[in-house]
Amino acid sequence: LLALDDATVRFGGRAVLDGVDLEVAEHEIVCVLGPSGSGKSTLLRAVAGLQPLDAGRVFLGGRDQAGVPAHKRGVGLMFQDHQLFPQRDVGGNVAFGLRMHGAGRSEQASRVVELLELVGLPGAERRAVAALSGGEQQRVALARALAPRPSLLMLDEPLGQLDRSLRERLVVELRQLFGELGTTVLAVTHDQGEAFALADRVVVMRDGRIAQSGTPLDVWRHPADAFVARFLGFDN
Ligand code: ATP
Ligand code: MG
Repeated sequence: LLALDDATVRFGGRAVLDGVDLEVAEHEIVCVLGPSGSGKSTLLRAVAGLQPLDAGRVFLGGRDQAGVPAHKRGVGLMFQDHQLFPQRDVGGNVAFGLRMHGAGRSEQASRVVELLELVGLPGAERRAVAALSGGEQQRVALARALAPRPSLLMLDEPLGQLDRSLRERLVVELRQLFGELGTTVLAVTHDQGEAFALADRVVVMRDGRIAQSGTPLDVWRHPADAFVARFLGFDN
């Protein structure tokens, strides 16, 4: 579904994405792990069309995305800081992506009901975003990203602001949800426990490059090098 070929992004001469090759198959859940500043968010933004490449290519469904604007790529992106609209209620936030895609009013309304049930917030349409807990806000952001039925859903630290027990519960729910919907997912986290619980495949990034890619078990058992081993918490 997704292929990156030698994807490169430079800021001030420094390669923040440095020749990344990556493929994500349909229905696959891939988690990107790596230290702060290793280029994880930049990778997602490049796929979404929010960050132009200095070299290399992005393919979605086999089509080169060069020159294709973000809203025409059919991908959903849930941002690291989720960026809900505080002045809109929950329903208004979830419907935002639908309106952008030209859905009519009644279609929007029924889809919002459906999505809020899906993420475990049934009937929350009229609630104020500011009055929701962090975990509830994350669920609203997830519903908004799922709304246009993206072929590829990208999540940047989707559970980042939550406490450990809530994260552990949501990870299980998310994995089940994505399985039911058949959603292809590319998710960033720097929590390895989260990645290992959610992912079919784990990609470890270092300084804009992919240090290792494999199943959680593979990466856990056979870290490719000392960096990956240290990052996973081994002392070698
Ligand atoms: P974190 O885990 O902290 O979110 P990350 O892996 O998502 O980190 P990125 O946000 O992709 O990291 O940033 C990678 C590097 O690129 C960082 O050093 C960052 O300072 C730099 N960078 C990102 N965006 C820009 C920009 N618009 N201009 C200049 N430098 C940038
Ligand atoms: Mg980031």
